[in-house]
Amino acid sequence: MTVTVRFAPSPTGHIHIGNARTALFNALLARQNQGQFVLRLDDTDTARSREEYADAIIADLRWLGIEPVRIERQSARVALYDAAAEKLKEAGLLYPCYETPDELDRRRKRRRARGLPPVYDRSALKLTSEERAALEAEGRKPHWRFLLPNFESDPFETRRSDVTWMDLCRGEQAVDLASLSDPVLQREDGTYLYTLPSVVDDIDLAMTHVVRGEDHVANTAVQIAIFKALGAEPPVFGHHNLLTTASGEGLSKRSGALSIGSLREQGLEPMTVASLAVLIGTSEAVEPKADLDALAASFDLSGVSRAPARFDPADLPALNARLLHHLPAGAVRDRLVALGVPADKTEAFWAAVSGNLERFGDAKDWWQVVSGPLTPVIEADDAEFLKTAATVLPAEPWDGETWKAWTNAVKAETGRKGKGLFMPLRKALTGLDHGPELARLLPLIGRQNTLDRLS
Ligand code: GLU
Repeated sequence: MTVTVRFAPSPTGHIHIGNARTALFNALLARQNQGQFVLRLDDTDTARSREEYADAIIADLRWLGIEPVRIERQSARVALYDAAAEKLKEAGLLYPCYETPDELDRRRKRRRARGLPPVYDRSALKLTSEERAALEAEGRKPHWRFLLPNFESDPFETRRSDVTWMDLCRGEQAVDLASLSDPVLQREDGTYLYTLPSVVDDIDLAMTHVVRGEDHVANTAVQIAIFKALGAEPPVFGHHNLLTTASGEGLSKRSGALSIGSLREQGLEPMTVASLAVLIGTSEAVEPKADLDALAASFDLSGVSRAPARFDPADLPALNARLLHHLPAGAVRDRLVALGVPADKTEAFWAAVSGNLERFGDAKDWWQVVSGPLTPVIEADDAEFLKTAATVLPAEPWDGETWKAWTNAVKAETGRKGKGLFMPLRKALTGLDHGPELARLLPLIGRQNTLDRLS
């Protein structure tokens, strides 16, 4: 069976690094198994879902290198949920309840006061058809609960009923269904909560693996019971730890902080973001991987730690610099050309500057340094020295040895050495007191620019 996974965000905001982490875990699992990645937009909450968020999610995934084989929208699949709900109702597994939130609240408090767990007591199951008709005549509409399989023959005599699964991240898991309330699957107005549509889609779209945050562990126990009630084999589940901010708070889609869009706008490389998102909170060292295949090769869901993982955006610049430093020129050729670097100079230019970049966009400033116009920085004390240096500038063609040959000649001519020799040259040629190796920059700057900057 083809490994098939899904990422199922609600398009109610921009996805943040924690959401992207779930998407990446799924995408990497698919990659490791030549499988398929499906994007499912959980847009049943029509009041909060927006098309622009759906578009942004697709764009953010694409930026990270994730291209879904198909995109599904739950809002277009309601007929499937209706059919499944009907099937459960016919089997007596989805039953109508009429309690108001206030009534439920009072009942929970009473149970707590008596030392009982605050689970729903299934009173609605006791209603006769006359009683139901009377409630409906009062104008009450039912919401529908799923009858959890936590009893032998009498639903009022629950007994310990462990749902177990081998979790890809957490190992053997057991949740006692007797500790849970029968979940509401359908609201008074006929719309569905997340629980049922997700299962129906996972069955219909043939998901083999469901990897999501550990905030869904309790849902999984219920959903496994629903898979079985619908006659389907549940998929393999994995629940990964959640990300927190550096100060330990949870991430929120609404806050906009750490959104993928904002990280992209900061000029970070997608693989920097992906590498940190995936490797943080695992047993692997956090280091930048060149592409998703390399990340997939070093990633194992069972190595994801159980404790929350702290995501510190302050780690990103250094990681980005390391990534850029190791990128081959061929991988950035087109981007350098787009910044204005002539195609035949991209290789030499990248060799010169890649080690000095924190963000790729900084390469534009270095190209400006190379090609000019540039205001040389010349201290009064150095003016004569620089004029003399110009007189011994070698003839072109220039290569990686030219700098050495020239500075040896300047040393012989002026008697200067060390910093007193190199710093005035650097400041005149680049306008800065720091930067890439001049041996590499000089041939790119060229003889005419060099002469212009020395006087
Ligand atoms: N829309 C759900 C969420 O964002 C999907 C959970 C799941 O993966 O099943 O939490």
